[in-house]
Amino acid sequence: MLATMGIAGRVLAALAALAFTLSSGCAKSPTAGAGIPVEPGAATGATSVAADAIYLGGDIVTINDAQPTVEALAVKDGKILAVGTRADVEKAHKGASTRIVNLAGKTLLPAFIDGHSHYFNSLLVANQCKLYAPPSGPAKDVDSIIAALRQFSADRKIPKGELIVGYGYDDTVMPGGRLLNRDDLDQAFPDNPVLINHVSMHGVVLNSLAMKKYGYSAKTETPPGGVIVRKPGTSEPYGLIMETAYLPVLNQAEPMTREQEIEWTRAGQMLYAEAGITTAHEGATHFAQLEAIKRATDAGANIIDVVAMPFITDLEKAVAAFPVSTWGTYDKRLKIGGVKITIDGSPQGRTALFTQPYLTGGPGGEKDWRGELTFPKDMVNQMVKTVYDMGVPLYLHANGDGAIDAFFKAHEFAAADDLTRDRDVTMIHAQFTRKDQIPLYAKYRIRPSYYTLHTYYFAEAHIKNRGRQQAMYISPMRDSIDAGLHPTNHTDFVVAPLDQMFMLWSAVNRVSRAGEAIGADQRVTPLEGLKAMTLWGAEQYGEEASKGSLEPGKLADLVVLDANPLKVSPQDIKGIKVLETIKEGRTIYSAK
Ligand SMILES: [Zn+2]
Repeated sequence: MLATMGIAGRVLAALAALAFTLSSGCAKSPTAGAGIPVEPGAATGATSVAADAIYLGGDIVTINDAQPTVEALAVKDGKILAVGTRADVEKAHKGASTRIVNLAGKTLLPAFIDGHSHYFNSLLVANQCKLYAPPSGPAKDVDSIIAALRQFSADRKIPKGELIVGYGYDDTVMPGGRLLNRDDLDQAFPDNPVLINHVSMHGVVLNSLAMKKYGYSAKTETPPGGVIVRKPGTSEPYGLIMETAYLPVLNQAEPMTREQEIEWTRAGQMLYAEAGITTAHEGATHFAQLEAIKRATDAGANIIDVVAMPFITDLEKAVAAFPVSTWGTYDKRLKIGGVKITIDGSPQGRTALFTQPYLTGGPGGEKDWRGELTFPKDMVNQMVKTVYDMGVPLYLHANGDGAIDAFFKAHEFAAADDLTRDRDVTMIHAQFTRKDQIPLYAKYRIRPSYYTLHTYYFAEAHIKNRGRQQAMYISPMRDSIDAGLHPTNHTDFVVAPLDQMFMLWSAVNRVSRAGEAIGADQRVTPLEGLKAMTLWGAEQYGEEASKGSLEPGKLADLVVLDANPLKVSPQDIKGIKVLETIKEGRTIYSAK
């Protein structure tokens, strides 16, 4: 209890301080590169300018409705110089030194724009044991988790006493409800602290040495908004420690060395580049992480654009270090893109807030459990108002329909002067949106960023926890697009792997692990699915003038795929491979 009062007190103090010190600045994010008006069908751009490169000989999917496909694309100085017929583009822009890139039947698209993930975690997972459930990883049960951890610690020769970390643990797929506990980890690793991150990234399972390291014991009370699973019949922490109860672990994360920051930045960004992504999202940036990202940025480590969202609890520090006037503009490929507020947990962790109880009770065995807001309602209202008053974009995590209601109430509180003005708000996940909530997104101009991968990864858990009807309607992309919204789609990496074609496949097919259709009426077309990871992603960051489609004047951020997602059969989309990723005309990843 005391711990949470501490958090709440700090947040309130910070918000109060901000209210005094902030003048509102930085409205819509400025963008690099201005779009040049395009004459549909014509090869556009200045004539007789020699291009650095001309791409031709394959499908070129522009994601521009005015000119959906072209035969050739010319690049100069990192920007798209022209698109059009091969004859026109070559005639106008083929010079003596122009490189002609023959796509040889492959497909060129705008590079992918990450709607939401946890970029900073990409720096860390290179040094953690992957514990995703099949098919994404080895962790099908407790024994296979322990086996993977043993192998990992042997391969890396981790000495006694050193922390062993795993990621991707999914309690919902453990057979027979036999969950990973402290004793399992103690038995295998009596001499090392072990920390296993839950797949939601909202909690951990610790062994006894790790409990000691982070300060958990039988005396630790469960804070409001938190979960500590206890050993049956005792008050000993035993399994998952979630949400606010897990903040002590977050707050004691060990800093990287300066060399590691740079080395791991490159390794982490290559994971994005391999996935065809040239704009990455850092979805909830704590201040120490922001400082590390900034140091690596200043050292020139960035190969892709990174948009970071300082977390609301660290806003005061973030604003002191990064004045609001600098937000929304890239500096050496880093941009502060808005503020992140999280108001509930995850549906698979049964910590998302719903208006109706979970069918399976709470994660700690609670009866009549609906989940909870992460922060008290009045504080949520105040937080949203603080961000609106700053005039910067808001990224708000809400999963359950109860949390989504709470956000709409907070919007009505914070935006009372003009409820329908575009305030650059993205709701992250918005998974259990009710049908009757869709018109409010449109009315209040809230962009949902959906998470259609749950139709595959977590559908069975959602059916069990929430019932079929609600589970079938998760991430209602079809209804949202039909209501005029431009939703984005995301992996929430490291919660799900960075696999943009698998994500697209999930939005288009909506099929569970068990092969069951999950809300077939919410399927989208492959083109809509692509927009949700390109053009609409650019809109989400206020960068549609420079990114998201292949139009003259925009950045030459490109991806080459081995097949055209608009032409293969929908169920084959997941097999499409990224062959090359190009950031501003320069190849940053090549499968060869
Ligand atoms: Zn997330």
